[in-house]
This record gives sequence, C-alpha cells and structure tokens, in this order.
Amino acid sequence: MRALCWNGINDLRVETVEDPKILDPGDVIVKVTLSSVCGSDLHLLDGYVPAMRSGDVLGHEFLGEVVETGSGVSKFTKGDRVIVISIIGCGHCWFCDNQLYSLCDNSNATPGMEETVYGHAGAGIFGYSHAFGGYAGSHADYIRVPYAETNVFKVPDGVPDETAVFVSDAVPTGWMAADLADIQGGDVVAVWGAGGVGLMAMTAARIMGAERVIAIDRFPDRLRKAHAHAGADILNYEKVDVHDALMEMTGGRGPDRCIDAVGLEAHGTGPGYLYDRAKQALQLETGRATVLRQAVRACRKGGTVSVIGVYGGFVDTFPIGALMNKALTMRGGQQHGQRYVPTLFEHIREGRLDPAYLMTHRWPLERGAEGYGMFKHKTDDCLRVVFDPSVRPEPGAGAGVGANNTTMGGPA
Ligand code: NAD
Ligand code: ZN
Repeated sequence: MRALCWNGINDLRVETVEDPKILDPGDVIVKVTLSSVCGSDLHLLDGYVPAMRSGDVLGHEFLGEVVETGSGVSKFTKGDRVIVISIIGCGHCWFCDNQLYSLCDNSNATPGMEETVYGHAGAGIFGYSHAFGGYAGSHADYIRVPYAETNVFKVPDGVPDETAVFVSDAVPTGWMAADLADIQGGDVVAVWGAGGVGLMAMTAARIMGAERVIAIDRFPDRLRKAHAHAGADILNYEKVDVHDALMEMTGGRGPDRCIDAVGLEAHGTGPGYLYDRAKQALQLETGRATVLRQAVRACRKGGTVSVIGVYGGFVDTFPIGALMNKALTMRGGQQHGQRYVPTLFEHIREGRLDPAYLMTHRWPLERGAEGYGMFKHKTDDCLRVVFDPSVRPEPGAGAGVGANNTTMGGPA
C-alpha cells in the first residue's frame, strides 16, 4: 500500500510499504478515507520528538471503513464507517477504567524513554514515534487499529465525513482543554493559538458557558475564524502587548481561565522569544514556554491554566512563583477522546458544533510533503490539510513524491 513516511527532519515521502495485518484478536484494519495533519505532527517533522525512525508512517487524525476484524471484535463489522481516537487505550487497565485513556498502562509497548524522562509512560499514539509505541500512522491506504472496541467509534448517520474526521483528535482535544480549565458560567476564557485545537477549545468553552472568549494568534485568517465560529474577541500578539491587552479587557482582573493551545513551538516577539529560540537550538531546553509564561502571568488570581499544547521535556524560567502565590490551578494532558465522543457527536447532531471548516485543503497523499510545508508555515490560509488516499494526483503532478520537500525547511 501507499503511505506518507517520515525519513528525517522535514523529509517526507510517499512510499510503498507492507499492508497492515491483524496481529491481536482485538485489532481491526481500517481503510483510510480521510487523514488530517495536526499540530502535533509538526513536532515530529521539526525533530522535537526523538525516537522517529526512517520509514515511520505519520498521521493520527482519521476516518475510514472497517475492512477486517480480529476474532475478538464483535462491536464492528466490515463496512462500518468509523473514526478512531488518535491516542490508544487498552480499555481494561486502571487508567482506562477511570476514563484516563491517554494515560493507559498497556498500549505503549516502548515506554522506556517516557519512564526515564517523566517517571511514568503514557499511552501509545498512532504515527507518533517509538517513544509512544511505534504504531504506524494513518497517512496511508490502510491502518491497523489495536484495542478496537475501546478506540473505534461508528459515525452516526447524517454526520458527514468532513465533520466526523475531526472527532478523532482536534474536537476532543479542544473539548478536553476546556474541560480541564473547569469553565464556569460567566467566565472569561483566553485561548492562545487559533489552530484546529484552539478553535475547538473556544467553541467548547462557549458551549460550557463562557461569557467571553478571547483568541490570541498572529494569523488574521485564523483570528477571523475564531470570531466567526466561536464569537471570540481577537488579539494579534504581533500588534499588541498580550498581557496589557488582557488586563485592559478584564478591568485588570485577568481571564478566569487560560488555555495554552500552542505548546512547545510557540512563536513570539522580543528578547524573551530570541532567548528561548537560542536555548532550544542549543538543546538547553526542549520547549519555548512563551505562552505558558504569558498564561500564568495573565490568569486571574485563583484561576485555571489548561495546557493542551504539547510539551516534550523541560522549559526555562517557568513562573512557579506566580503559580503558587496566585493560587492557580494548572492542568494538562494528552486527550482522552474516548470519553468525550458520544457527547461530541450529540453536539454535532444538534448543530452546536461543526468542525468541518477546519478542512481548508483536501489533497491526495502524494501531495503530503507539500501539504505539511503549507500547514507548517500556515500559507494559503491553511488550517488543516486532509489527505484523501482515494484521490490520485493528476498525471505529471505528484509534487513531493520521493523527494525532500525544500519548502518545508525553516523554523516553525
Ligand atoms: P497549529 O499549528 O495549527 O496551531 C498552532 C497555533 O498557535 C498557530 O496558529 C500559531 O500561529 C499559534 N501560536 C504560535 N505562537 C503563539 C503565541 N505566542 N501566542 C498565540 N498563538 C501562537 O496546531 P494545532 O493542531 O491547533 O495544535 C496546537 C497544539 O495542540 C500543538 O502543540 C499540538 O501538538 C497540540 N495537540 C495536543 C493534543 C493533546 O492531546 N494534548 C492533541 C492534538 C494537538
Ligand atoms: Zn489502558
């Protein structure tokens, strides 16, 4: 089958790889219909998640059709239209029993690196390196899905593919960001990052009763979408001082809930940002904490900081004093999508939530490298490129096939 493979930093190629097989009774094989890029893939592309190997298949946000089931699977049959949660739960460990699926004790068969760095390992993740289980990803014709009865969900009739695909990752991740933030009716919620995850967090915050949502980013089209789809007030961090603006908007009190939907590759302005870039380049810190620092400093006393953007290891000059003295609550995590899917499909069916607008580009797999280049640099108003393996490139087009895409380089 065809698959989009990682071959080194900023080097993606479509290759012919072995078809996946059922390995365990709980597996299913899914024929991929749609497979989206996600901000988390950029950390792999840019080399911030170690333990990628040449030939690893990327992709973890996807929708498809069940084409084969293991002997232990009774919930699904061939032909079912399904989405799969990007982070894998085994369904029967203590963490899965407590709906903390991304902390699953069994799905990551290569826990060593996380155990060393974090003290404990979390769940395996599709297409997310050999530190997270070494599972092949979904940018391919087919994918093997383990523990299917826990991780696979039938798409309700009437929900189109273009909407449902994002219930695999962006929607539950944004939902969980708002859930962790513990939003109360009437809250002011500031969300850093207006990518797929941040936008979904903004909508979730609204549904949970936030009175005001403030979106922070630098891309005008993303900020426009935050306003149009989540009724957010917007701040362009290249044009205003974010802290001053937030204080002005909240009468000096600060937002009740602050959500970091950016993570370790934050951009910024001024000397602080240059300091982080230099330290990250020299591997003296693994993430740029620009957003974390802003969120902790801006958050109102006694408020909550929800960290859904991904961090890998260590950051510098974390304002622990502000966190402690302002009595803030800080929570984070990889998404526990399995726990939210039924609620999310209900909101979708009742018209409160429609993530379909996240798909700004629908491309053949063969344009994978080009698609990632565009997503990484946010050109052509790209929010998410979604690969459709059934679409074949025009004869002679095939951009990015078998070649290191030079448009992908440069800092992200
Ligand atoms: P994305 O790349 O589409 O969006 C990130 C946005 O952050 C961009 O629009 C960028 O301009 C903005 N940004 C950068 N620096 C900023 C700053 N200083 N202030 C405000 N905005 C800034 O990515 P995405 O798909 O929306 O993902 C966002 C984050 O969520 C990533 O770190 C990703 O790894 C993470 N994520 C986490 C989970 C999880 O389970 N916890 C799941 C999916 C994605
Ligand atoms: Zn488990």
